[in-house]
Amino acid sequence: MRVGRYTGLVSLLVLWAGGLRAEDGWREKVRRYRYCYIDSVYWWSSDRSTRVVVRLKDRRPYTAHLFQNPSRLCIDIERAVLHPPKQTWEIGDGLVRRVRAAQFSPEKARVVLDLAEVRGYNIFRLSNPDRIVVDLFPKLPKPSPEGPSLVQQLGAKVKRIVLDPGHGGKDPGAIGLWGISEKDLVLDICRRAQKLLQRWGYEVFLTRTQDVFVPLEARTAFANQKHADLFVSVHLNFSRNRRTSGIETYYLSFASDREAQELAAFENAMASNLIGDIEEVLKGILKNTKIKESKVLASVVQERLVAKCRRKNRGVRTAPFVVLIGANMPAVLVEASFLSNPQEARLLKEAWFRRRVAEALADGVERYANRLAVR
Ligand SMILES: [Zn+2]
Repeated sequence: MRVGRYTGLVSLLVLWAGGLRAEDGWREKVRRYRYCYIDSVYWWSSDRSTRVVVRLKDRRPYTAHLFQNPSRLCIDIERAVLHPPKQTWEIGDGLVRRVRAAQFSPEKARVVLDLAEVRGYNIFRLSNPDRIVVDLFPKLPKPSPEGPSLVQQLGAKVKRIVLDPGHGGKDPGAIGLWGISEKDLVLDICRRAQKLLQRWGYEVFLTRTQDVFVPLEARTAFANQKHADLFVSVHLNFSRNRRTSGIETYYLSFASDREAQELAAFENAMASNLIGDIEEVLKGILKNTKIKESKVLASVVQERLVAKCRRKNRGVRTAPFVVLIGANMPAVLVEASFLSNPQEARLLKEAWFRRRVAEALADGVERYANRLAVR
């Protein structure tokens, strides 16, 4: 009896010491050897895709492989240490069963997504904070809890619209003369466009209704979750050359030129050289994107903006904007004139001009919708 109690105590002590060692090992690897660790895992589900984000404490190389029988996606992260050494996140949305993470080797952490049958996936990284974003597409549509809207069931092709006022909160976007900021102006424009479109019978959601920070990948995921038929991200442009002015509308693809690349870097809140990372995986991403429809939407919206606001037509362009990646519906990004141009900044300060931009956006959406209805 007494011996038993004694060995019990000893084994407790050993366990405690072992635990301490594991704890110290983890900290030491992170502090001294600059290992990264998984900060959190979060996700969004919609009927046509699931987006899983693995947030890391630091930027590390990774590789991803899709395996069958059973279907799973393995992401190996270099110089990563897990604490605790095994972690699980239950998702169970019909496509992703769960996400598991374990220490694969002393140097490597492995994140496994247990899946149902998938048609394809996109994976890319974002910085600030460092995170790996995975979009997964099911072979068969998932049963959706929200379902199509009533008007969709009645046959209308465009009913739900998500407007995305760029930036917000700690991210002001471009700052113009008199300290006016992009984040405030685009929110005002989107609110006005929302009211107009609602009056015309559309359901309109904004990705933010206040001055708050919303991560880029959350904006697209929001549109997917809402089963939106269109996604329009609204921004204002900035150029070092104060004389540059006009309007441009973008859809997702490789940067059409150097200027577009720099703009994407700015809007993506990342260094220009990281754009290369995105472009590397873009080919795969474009396969799962409504490019043709987005291009048509971009040209209709651009035409209306230029005509109504009477600004220079800088044309429909392409760039790898993160906020457009993974959208299940036609998606465009509008740069509705330049905050860096004194004349346009003065216009943007005026409520009547912002109303006009909003009217042009609403009009563009309406015309695109009517085009589809006629076909
Ligand atoms: Zn912007």
